[in-house]
Amino acid sequence: YAAKAQTQTVVWYSDAQEASRLSHLSLLSDLRSAVQNSELQMWLQPKVKLADMQTYGFEALVRWQHPQRGFISPAEFVPFAERTGYISTVTMWMIERALQSLQLWQAQGLNLSIAVNVSTNDLRDESFPDRVRALMQRYDVSPANLRLELTESGIMEDPSSAIPLLQKLRELGIGLSIDDFGTGHSSLAYLQKLPVTELKIDRSFVINIDQLPSTQRLVKTIVEMGHGLQLSVIAEGIETAAERDTLRELGCDSMQGYFASKPLHGESLQKWLDQILLNARQT
Ligand code: C2E
Ligand code: MG
Ligand code: MG
Ligand code: MG
Repeated sequence: YAAKAQTQTVVWYSDAQEASRLSHLSLLSDLRSAVQNSELQMWLQPKVKLADMQTYGFEALVRWQHPQRGFISPAEFVPFAERTGYISTVTMWMIERALQSLQLWQAQGLNLSIAVNVSTNDLRDESFPDRVRALMQRYDVSPANLRLELTESGIMEDPSSAIPLLQKLRELGIGLSIDDFGTGHSSLAYLQKLPVTELKIDRSFVINIDQLPSTQRLVKTIVEMGHGLQLSVIAEGIETAAERDTLRELGCDSMQGYFASKPLHGESLQKWLDQILLNARQT
């Protein structure tokens, strides 16, 4: 009977379900060793001032180069890492990589920021601010050059526990940005209480904005509200000059997107940094 019960249990899974379950199990053990095996990479996408198109910082985006499966996109493995509780290791690894780069740049006379994406799971972990502080103590970096991006939906899931945590991070001097703004049902009452420094307008409002007067009116309202709360306002995912021009007219402070640059790494990043140093020497 036991044997029969076992076979019956097995047929509960379809072949496809079983395959996907197994591949997720092996993906988890792979993710555990990814950091040690240097399979994770930090790519940096420039954040650019709309007034003069100068780079003032970067957003850090994680990349996983898996030895067998090849490139695995963060859209695929970040939600998986969140479900399996491994995301905090990824977050801390990214923060440390950011601090290493910032320390190096500071020594070269480059005053730029790096913003690391933080998961909703990190926001629920009370030890997160202390772990960030401990890491920062090991690097000689101006705290304001480290930024964290937190999604609006992540904050609004449980604002009363997220707010004190954000407060502790702000006390470390770190900049805080609300990511994917406009998609997360913010309560205006909470928005006023959030100790953040930047508001990042989601890409869904940016696509074809030059042709969409009603979206322009909405974004103008968001920009004015952000400025009213003394936040700087950035738009993400700008791909065309027309989108860029429209956002500039609407009063947006800065931009990020393929129009300025795709995320950079290695040689392409070095070229971008060299150009910044060159511009700085010429002026
Ligand atoms: P996000 O934080 O909103 O990041 C912006 C995403 O849009 C990035 O995708 C970026 O490469 C992409 N992007 C930038 N400019 C453009 C553009 O002009 N057009 C288009 N179509 N896309 C653009 P990516 O790197 O695949 O990351 C996707 C999401 O994965 C991120 O969204 C973020 O939520 C998450 N993510 C990435 N890295 C990390 C990380 O280190 N930790 C955590 N927790 N999440 C991360
Ligand atoms: Mg982000
Ligand atoms: Mg975003
Ligand atoms: Mg987005």
